[in-house]
Amino acid sequence: MHPVELVIRGRRVVTEHGIGPAAVHITRGYISAISVYEDVPDGAELIEAFDSIVMPGLVDTHVHVNEPGRTDWEGFETATRAAAAGGVTTIVDMPLNSIPATTTLEGLKTKLETARHKLHVDVALWGGVVPENTSELAKLWEAGVVGFKCFLIHSGVNEFPNVTESDLHEAMPELARLGALLIVHAELAGPVEACCQSIARAPSRSYKTFLDSRPREAENEAIALMIRLCRETNCRVHIVHHSSADALPMLREAKKCGLPMTAETCPHYLHFVAEDVPDGATEFKCCPPIRERENREALWEALKDGTIDFVVSDHSPCPPGMKLREEGDFMTAWGGISSLQLRLPITWTDASARGCTIEDLTKWLCREPARQVGLHNLKGAIKEGYHADMVIWNPDREFKVEPAMLHHRHRLSPYNGEVFRGVVEKTFVRGRIVYDGGEFLAPLGEIVLRQS
Ligand SMILES: [Zn+2]
Repeated sequence: MHPVELVIRGRRVVTEHGIGPAAVHITRGYISAISVYEDVPDGAELIEAFDSIVMPGLVDTHVHVNEPGRTDWEGFETATRAAAAGGVTTIVDMPLNSIPATTTLEGLKTKLETARHKLHVDVALWGGVVPENTSELAKLWEAGVVGFKCFLIHSGVNEFPNVTESDLHEAMPELARLGALLIVHAELAGPVEACCQSIARAPSRSYKTFLDSRPREAENEAIALMIRLCRETNCRVHIVHHSSADALPMLREAKKCGLPMTAETCPHYLHFVAEDVPDGATEFKCCPPIRERENREALWEALKDGTIDFVVSDHSPCPPGMKLREEGDFMTAWGGISSLQLRLPITWTDASARGCTIEDLTKWLCREPARQVGLHNLKGAIKEGYHADMVIWNPDREFKVEPAMLHHRHRLSPYNGEVFRGVVEKTFVRGRIVYDGGEFLAPLGEIVLRQS
C-alpha cells in the first residue's frame, strides 16, 4: 500500500452518490479512496475547496488542435492551456486540419511525436475515415485512436475529403468488425447546393443569408442516411455538433429502437440564437449554423430527455484574418467557434437558468463524453480507481468574458463581452495541479491511447 499523497476535500464534492462533504484521497495519480470529510491521513498534502464544487475534470471529445501543420491556427500547447484554465482535463483531438491528417498510421505517428512535452492536460486522438483509407482503419485502431470521424460534406480542408454513401458501405462494416465508433459531420451537400441559386444575390453580410445557405434539410437528410447505415451495418454511429431540431424525432426513434446511435451538441447552439446575430459578425459562423430561438429550446429539451447525450465544444480556431471580420462576409469566412475554455460556465449558466443541476452538468460535460471514447473506467467521474482528474470551481461567481483571459491562440470570440456564472479555481490532472487561479504549472499532460 502506497501512502496517500494528496487529499482534496470540500463540502460539495460530486460523486456517483450525489453532492456532499467528502475527502478525496489521491495516491500516485489515482483516486485511492473517497472518505468522510474529516479523514485526512498523516503526511498527506491537503487542498481545501471550501464551498466550491469539486467535480470530475471535464472531458472534451471535440477539439481541433490543428498541429502539426496549422500551428498558426492553434497548437497543443495553447489548446491544452485553455483546457486547463477551463477545468478540462482530457481533450480528444480531431483528425483534420492538422497536416498530415490522422487518416494513416504514419499521420498518427507524426501527431504523437509532435504532441509530446507540450500538454497541460491529457490528450486522446480521433482517426479519420476518408475515401480509400479502409485498409488503414485497423492499424489506426490498434495504434490507439479512440474512434473515427468522417464528413458527409466538404470538410473545409482539401486533405480531408468527405465520404459518400458508397465509401461508407466499405468503411462501416470494417469499423463494426473492429467495434470502433464512427463520428459523423452530418450535413449532406444536396440541400446546401439546392439553395445556392436562391441566395446568390442575397447580401453576404447578412446572417440570414448564411443561415439559409445551410438549411436544416442538410442535417435531417444526413441523419436519416446515418440511421439507415447504422441499421444496415451495425456500426456504432455518433452525430457531432447536432444543430437541427427537426432531426430530433428521428434520433429519438432510432435510440428507442435500440440502434447504437448517440449525439452531441455544443455550447454555441445552446446559448446563441440566429435572431440576435448581428450582420457582419462572422465570429458567429460555424457549420452547421446557430439556428433560431425555437430550435435552441428544442435542443435543450433533447439534452434533458437524453436524445442528445452530451455537450462538447467543437473548439475550431483559425487565424483572425480568415474570419474576414472587416468585410463581415459570412459566405467566405472560415466557420468555427473556439470555446474549449468556456464550456463549463456557458453550459452551467444556461442549464441552471432552465432548472438543471450540477449532476446534469457532470453527466453532460464529464461522464458521457468519457464514455463515448471508452475512457469511462478511468475518467469522467470521482470514483475509487479512477485518474484523479478534478476541477474545483465556484458556481455562483460571475465574470465577463474578455479577450485577454482566453488562453487559446486567437481571441476573436462571439463570447467576448458575455457574462457567465462559474469560475474555475483549480484543475488537477492525475493528481497533479495544472492550473491554479490564473497560474499554469509545468505541462504534465499525457497522450492517452485506447486500451485494447
Ligand atoms: Zn469540429
